[in-house]
Amino acid sequence: MPALLELGHVGLSYHTLSGEIQALSQISFSVQEGEFVSLVGPSGCGKSTVLNLIAGLLIPEQGQITMQGLPREHSVLSVGYMLQKDHLLEWRTIYKNVLLGLEIRRELTAEKLAYVNQLLSDYGLDKFRSAHPSELSGGMRQRAALIRTLALKPELLLLDEPFSALDSQTRLSVSDDIGRILHQEKKTAILVTHDISEAISMADRVIILSPRPAIIRKIVPICFDLENRTPMASRNAPEFKSYFNLIWKELNHDV
Ligand code: ADP
Ligand code: MG
Repeated sequence: MPALLELGHVGLSYHTLSGEIQALSQISFSVQEGEFVSLVGPSGCGKSTVLNLIAGLLIPEQGQITMQGLPREHSVLSVGYMLQKDHLLEWRTIYKNVLLGLEIRRELTAEKLAYVNQLLSDYGLDKFRSAHPSELSGGMRQRAALIRTLALKPELLLLDEPFSALDSQTRLSVSDDIGRILHQEKKTAILVTHDISEAISMADRVIILSPRPAIIRKIVPICFDLENRTPMASRNAPEFKSYFNLIWKELNHDV
């Protein structure tokens, strides 16, 4: 079976008035269904560019992107995108916010509404349906944003530093929380982060990018001897430290 997603020798430059900025060069990797991949690299190296290419918001100048064996532009795979800012609308209730994507797509069917209701109650937002975003903590807002994304049943989920607006303590519990939800919903996901611990704790594989123009420095498979792997349990596992050191060394290759 072809991979859910495959990037082959992808390259891209931004053409600006002040010249050309080469963002990516020769990026090749694949993601299998159900896999959770973290993408790490220094700030400005091209991580968001990779996600924008996968989302179809940018077109590669070199190489190709295929999904389930089909070229990106012919693929019908549904892709969800979650960003650093939750972009919840203050004038809508939480319930109305999580329904936004379905409303825009005119997909407010009984089946989809039942799924949203299930997500809200499974993940503790039931009581906050009629609340407005400003009444929720940063972590709960991010959870609402995740439910809004999951409501569309994306087959591939792109997460661009979704926890970086949170303070470090909240960040730990929210990433643990969201990691568990995505695991339970068996989502294929790509998480962009510059936090090494976050990358390891959530992923099956960590892809390390070099400074711009980004090339792939190393791909590290992550495996813990845990019966019930959660991000928090991973952080406490004995293997965690050696993964951290390995990735840290690769990231600081040129420093
Ligand atoms: P990261 O997400 O790793 O911080 P980005 O993918 O956002 O990096 O950007 C990679 C490089 O491309 C950066 O140097 C950035 O300044 C540049 N860049 C990103 N978007 C644009 C754009 N629209 N026009 C010109 N340069 C851009
Ligand atoms: Mg970015």
